[in-house]
Amino acid sequence: MGSGPVDDPRYIGYRRRLIEAMRAKGISDLELLQRFDQVPRHLFLPEGVRHMAYEDAPVAIGYGQTASQPSLQAFFLSLLHPNSEDRVLEIGTGSGFLTALLALSAGRVYSVERVRELSIRARRALDQLALTNVALLVGDGTIGWRRYAPYEIIVVSAASPGVPETLLAQLADPGRMLLPVGTRDRQDLILVRKEDGEITQESVRDQCTFVPLLGSFGWDERTQPGTR
Ligand code: SAH
Repeated sequence: MGSGPVDDPRYIGYRRRLIEAMRAKGISDLELLQRFDQVPRHLFLPEGVRHMAYEDAPVAIGYGQTASQPSLQAFFLSLLHPNSEDRVLEIGTGSGFLTALLALSAGRVYSVERVRELSIRARRALDQLALTNVALLVGDGTIGWRRYAPYEIIVVSAASPGVPETLLAQLADPGRMLLPVGTRDRQDLILVRKEDGEITQESVRDQCTFVPLLGSFGWDERTQPGTR
């Protein structure tokens, strides 16, 4: 897929260099690194910022939103390690890049985004890679997506003031959920596990900065819509 017709040969060298940079940062799981080779990140970015696609950095994708840093997404995947049986709920489709990475390993990915234009753009990129096990929804992801619940994995890519009860209720047992929790400026990345009806939480990284999760069980979108 990585070198298929939708890919652009000019980017292949850059992509290999990104993978080398990620290895240098201690990411050693070969299967995980291979996923990054299989998903051309430039396809998920607006034309004007495509030259930044293979830097290990967050990239502005418009509407006040950012595509997360690749090595951070690798960290997400290493904690969630979806398998082909898993149903994954993703809140904050954004560029759709993590959606694609998840779709390569998971059974099915359900992804909710509040900005319609981003969801449409993500759909276009996912279609180019013929990833057919992805369902996208435009709406407030803080209320989850009841229709396909429960989910073995829930991942939230925007900063939440707490662990939304709505999402916890849609988590399968056993199941795991990853989300940044904290203030609008600084968050801890929290891994929540549900097992035999018990919920446990563990902070897996501190001092993170994600765009705010805006909505009913997130931050109030009337105060600072779409800002970070
Ligand atoms: N993994 C994505 C991250 C995008 S940033 C990527 O790498 O591209 C987080 C996204 O969450 C933004 O696109 C933002 O619009 C979205 N978001 C914020 N609040 C949301 C909500 N309540 N429901 C759905 N999406 C939300």
